Amino acid sequence: MRVEVDPDRCVGSGNCELLAPDVFEVGDDGVVRVLRPRLGEADEDAVRDAVARCPTGALGLAE
Ligand code: SF4
Repeated sequence: MRVEVDPDRCVGSGNCELLAPDVFEVGDDGVVRVLRPRLGEADEDAVRDAVARCPTGALGLAE
C-alpha cells in the first residue's frame, strides 16, 4: 500500500504527523512530506487514521 499527498490541498495542520510520525512530516514551508510512501503492515492502521482525519482530504491510499 502506498500513501499519496496532494500538496496543493495541504494546510499544514499536522494531524497526520501526530498520528503517524514515521510516515509524515510537516516541513518549514507548512506542507507535509511523506517520509516513507511505501507502507509496511505496521504503518497501515495509523496511516488510515491520518487519511481519515486530514481536514482537507489531501491524503489518499493506493495499492
Ligand atoms: S493532516 Fe492533511 S492538511 Fe494536515 S498536514 Fe497532514 S496532509 Fe496536510
